[in-house]
Amino acid sequence: MLVDCHAHLDPFSDGDVSQILDRAHAAGVGAVISAGTTVESSARSVELSARFPALFSGVGIHPMDIREPFDDSAAERLRSLATSTAKVVVFSEIGLDFMEGAPDRAVQYDAFRQQIRLARDLKLPIVFHSRESHDEVIRVLREERAYEVGGAMHYFQADAPTARKAIDLGFYISLARPLLRLPHLQEVAAGLPLESIVLESDAAPQPFKSKRESWTEPRHVKTVAVKLAELHARPVEEIVEVTTANVRALLGERWEAVETYVSSRSATRADSGP
Ligand SMILES: [Zn+2]
Repeated sequence: MLVDCHAHLDPFSDGDVSQILDRAHAAGVGAVISAGTTVESSARSVELSARFPALFSGVGIHPMDIREPFDDSAAERLRSLATSTAKVVVFSEIGLDFMEGAPDRAVQYDAFRQQIRLARDLKLPIVFHSRESHDEVIRVLREERAYEVGGAMHYFQADAPTARKAIDLGFYISLARPLLRLPHLQEVAAGLPLESIVLESDAAPQPFKSKRESWTEPRHVKTVAVKLAELHARPVEEIVEVTTANVRALLGERWEAVETYVSSRSATRADSGP
């Protein structure tokens, strides 16, 4: 079984999520971790995860969505969501984004730091976002002792030294579909130890793509695994085994929920789902 470590399924309808998870299952992707981007989307993600055995959730506010300072009420709402069910297995999606037009940096730093503290307090691994901000993200993670909970650098597209810094800090490198087309990323991935890699889709609605079939979905994690197998000259079965063992290590005691719900899926399959 493969695990999609990071997707955004909360914008989809329940019916769509059901079909997306069926297609993932058919491709060998047995568990999907959906990340929140705001308090509301985290709540929706947690609600969906309660409905589908193969779906798990993160909670968190994305740096591109920090339009107002992170306050106590946001912290309390995220905390109560995170503790409402065993299906919340990570704190995500949080981080820094220095792209032009991104929210005020002081507000981003504060939200990132406060959410790392919350994740540590809740003992939830962190799946983080970094765009044009890698050194600062690594610095803040170190200063806030995020290595105590670990996690993954999501949608990794950076260079080898950046991967090394993240790994040395106790984080996994999460690879997605860009691995299929970016030569520099293929080179970096070929040099990474398999023991440091997890896989994801970062799936979200893509209405700008004319064909619905070409939207990225959790099922595409399989194609990333196939590419990684080719780059490491290993059988794809080994990639499946190692990356899933990595997710297990990343989640620590939170993995128990994955095991429980994924095995219950086949039992309840016939009468489950909307
Ligand atoms: Zn994402």
